[in-house]
Parts: sequence; C-alpha cells; structure tokens
Amino acid sequence: MKAVLFYEHGDLDVLQYTGFPTPEPGPGQVLVRLKAAALNALDIWVRNGWPGIKLEYPHIPGADGAGEVAALGEGVTGLSVGDRVVINSNLGCGECEYCRAGYENRCRNWLLLGEHVRGTYAEYVSASARNLYPIPPGIDERTAAAAALVFHTAWHSLISRGNLQAGESVLVVGSSGGVNTASIQIAKLAGATVYVVGSSREKLDIAASLGADVLIDRSEEPDWSKTVFKLTGKRGVDVVVDNVGTTFPMSMRAAGKGGRILTVGNTGGPKFEIDNRFIFAKHLSIIGSTMGTVNEFATVMSLVFSGKLKPVLDRTYPLSEARAAQERLESGEQMGKITLSIG
Ligand SMILES: [Zn+2]
Repeated sequence: MKAVLFYEHGDLDVLQYTGFPTPEPGPGQVLVRLKAAALNALDIWVRNGWPGIKLEYPHIPGADGAGEVAALGEGVTGLSVGDRVVINSNLGCGECEYCRAGYENRCRNWLLLGEHVRGTYAEYVSASARNLYPIPPGIDERTAAAAALVFHTAWHSLISRGNLQAGESVLVVGSSGGVNTASIQIAKLAGATVYVVGSSREKLDIAASLGADVLIDRSEEPDWSKTVFKLTGKRGVDVVVDNVGTTFPMSMRAAGKGGRILTVGNTGGPKFEIDNRFIFAKHLSIIGSTMGTVNEFATVMSLVFSGKLKPVLDRTYPLSEARAAQERLESGEQMGKITLSIG
C-alpha cells in the first residue's frame, strides 16, 4: 500500500510518501481501506517528538480516518466487507478495570491510533472491530473522519466530565481549532449561552456561524477575562473551555463562583503558573480529560450523521501531499479541519 511515514523525529522533511506492507487484521480486527483521514495537532507533536516518546519505526501518523471494510479478522461479527466505517482512534484494551467499567479512555494500557500504533496516513489501517462505527448513506468519509476525534473529545469534556446544563454560560478560549469549534456546537446543542475569545475577526466569524452568542476579539481586547467579567455583570461564566493552557490565569478570572474549567490539551504549552487563591476563593474546579468512551463515540457520531453537529472543513489534500497538509496545519492559517483524500 501507499503510506506517509517517517523514520526519525524532525520537521516536515522527515515525511515520506512511499510503499509500506498492507497490515493484516489480527483476531477481532478489521482491515479498513481508507478514503479520508483528518489531521490533528497531535500529528505534528508526534512527528516532532518529545522526551520519552517511543515509536515503532517507520511510524505512520494519523488518528482520524474513515473508509470501507476490506477484510475481517478472526472472530469479527456484525460487519461485512464493503461496509463504510469511521474509526474511533481511542484504543482501550477491553479487559482492564477501566475498560470493563466503560472508560476505555482511562485504560491502563491505553493506545492512541497514530501515536502509539501506526495511523491513518495510509491506504489501509487495521483496527479493532469495536473501534468502528458505521457511516450511513449520504455522509461522506471526509466529514466522518474530520468529526471523529474532536467531537468525541469535546463531548466527553463538556457533557460527561463538565456536566454542562441548559441555561449555563460557557466561554470557549479559541474560535477556530477543531476541538473548540466542536465545543461551541456541543454547548449550543446543550442549551448554553456561548462566549468565544478569538484571535481575529475572520476566525470569530466561524464561531458566529456555529451559533456562538458573544464574540470577543483578543486582538482588540487583550485582557479578555475582564471583558467577560463585564459582559456577565461581574458574575463570570459557569464553564470555561481552555485547551490553550497558558491562558489558565485569564480563564480562572473569567470563571464565576463555582465555575468549572475544562481542559483536554495545551496548544500554548504545558507549564504555566496559576494563582491558588482563585481556586479556593471562587470554588473553582479544574477538570481534565482525554478522548472519550465507546458509547460516547456512538452518541456523538450519530449527532454528526443526523446533521446536529458539523465539522468545519478547511482544505483537503491527496495523501501524497500530506507534507503540504501538515505545513498548513503548522501555519495556523486553517479555518477548520484539514483532511487527506485517499485512494
Ligand atoms: Zn483497558
């Protein structure tokens, strides 16, 4: 098969579009012929590497993918060759205490497709049958692949971990990234009032098109925490979605008493100082999560397939031009999910 892979960490130049043996589906696994993959910031971090990361080389990036069933491994039932499927990249062992309790995303032997195992920048990938969800007629693979990781992640964070309720106010820090655009839509679907801080008018237009109620342009309002405080009558918001990390001090100021600060990542870097006084004096909760459960994947993909949630799509590139796709992702100029078309 054709794949995009690399043999060492580094910049865009380490990516190679080349031949690689087609994987064999093991017991319980399914071989998927991919039609689309979607890029995530994770792909860049894995390519660059970090202290302690261990990859089996050559490594194929890519957590998100959708396509059709090409072959079934031993013991797989309920799927047929030709079925169209989207992949849940969150690979739990299915056997540990967390997996048995339904929390595959807390698995003791947790693996992420495209990080711990070879991913979706390829014509084929092998995945466990329970990580596949059928795509109904009328939905294309690109939409399914672009929605999967970000909506799954945002749903687990806002709904399951954050317990977001109708009538609450939510501030989303960032307006155009995949998880943020998913969070805006999920918060609106839950009946919340949504505030969004964005870096430019153009990026805030995306948030507005998704139903965001209050837009704050941080190029004009650098201390947006004060702006939120004012706009809420000096109350603050109930929930802050902060996947930047370094913005935590501002997010803690923007949160009201009893507020919850949700985080699934740190596009601005992992380490920063916080003022403990905000946490106790305002009764704040800081709530982290990663990915989601198998049940949540089904819930969120059915909402995508029924049109209630929609991934924002940026450009698409052929698999052979994955380098250009990652270059665009690194530039930060994209407006939504960048995808690869395969085959
Ligand atoms: Zn497990």
